[in-house]
Amino acid sequence: MKKTLVTGGAGFLGSHLCERLLERGEDVLCVDNFYTGDKQNVSHLINNPYFEIMRHDVTFPLYVETDQIYNMACPASPVHYQFDPVQTTKTSVHGAINMLGLAKRVKARILQASTSEVYGDPEIHPQPEEYWGKVNPVGIRSCYDEGKRCAETLFFDYWRQHNLSIKVVRIFNTYGPRMHPNDGRVVSNFIVQAIRGEDITIYGDGQQTRSFCYVDDLVEVIIRMMNSEEGFTGPVNIGNPGEFTMLELAEKVLSITGSKSKIIFQPLPSDDPKQRQPDISMAKEKLDWEPKVALEDGLKETIAYFKKVVG
Ligand code: NAD
Ligand code: UDP
Repeated sequence: MKKTLVTGGAGFLGSHLCERLLERGEDVLCVDNFYTGDKQNVSHLINNPYFEIMRHDVTFPLYVETDQIYNMACPASPVHYQFDPVQTTKTSVHGAINMLGLAKRVKARILQASTSEVYGDPEIHPQPEEYWGKVNPVGIRSCYDEGKRCAETLFFDYWRQHNLSIKVVRIFNTYGPRMHPNDGRVVSNFIVQAIRGEDITIYGDGQQTRSFCYVDDLVEVIIRMMNSEEGFTGPVNIGNPGEFTMLELAEKVLSITGSKSKIIFQPLPSDDPKQRQPDISMAKEKLDWEPKVALEDGLKETIAYFKKVVG
């Protein structure tokens, strides 16, 4: 039986990943310090004899046996990663060093959950993997952006220097059930506000764009990438190329929920990227994957989840 380690396994993406890996017949060890994750996200898996959960902070070394490592640990919402920025950089950089060290010791394959944030506020649209990005090294988003960029560097250096089997995915905005109601990211904020009848908070004029991928599509391609041919390292963009302004997103959420919430405009946080859309040609060609779930359908699922949690 394949032994698989998922760091950040009690978080939004990590918990869906653990679930799918168990369905595939893998023996899953979920490691998390519960900084933004929650035991509740994996409570339905606890009775599975092939699932194990361990409280651990990846900025400290970890000694376990494993065949594959999905390194997902890191707060992903700007609100949370900016709350303790030094810890965010440590999680990305020390976390990567510790997990790469573990992979080297036990000869495991390791996948890094990188991000579209490595492109910063991009000048090229849509963003292909060859683009090096436009990132502010000293701004409020830098702890996350530069932390993730340094983690990518470490992955490729371990690959070149130690011949480690690495996989790097650059995840674009992903949403779905089990996002935390106070996560702070736009999809969960708008849905929770709409359900509660509170004002919908658009930052800036709402003309900035993002491309939103439903969690099921994303987990599918992460697992495909992990099990892809040796030598295909990525980085590979994964996400849904459907691009929407934040105003369009707010209107969709209002129309699906039937909420009477008002849209209000608040100041745009600094360094907020103006536009973002993945070029997913590489994922299509190498992983034979493209997303299937349209934004409206994914929003309906997510809204149904949040109605149970906060409704
Ligand atoms: P999340 O905040 O729900 O999950 C992150 C998990 O990591 C949480 O369970 C948290 O408790 C855990 N964690 C944080 N610091 C840790 C540490 N030092 N040691 C151990 N565990 C720690 O966020 P998510 O959306 O599930 O993101 C998962 C991964 O995917 C992150 O690495 C994130 O950067 C990446 N990613 C996500 C998106 C997205 O849109 N969801 C986009 C790009 C990249
Ligand atoms: N945003 C918004 N209202 C909110 C939360 C976010 O208008 O309540 C905007 C935010 O300024 C950004 C976009 O939505 O332009 C996506 O923000 P999110 O935090 O979800 O992710 P990221 O900026 O990291 O892509």
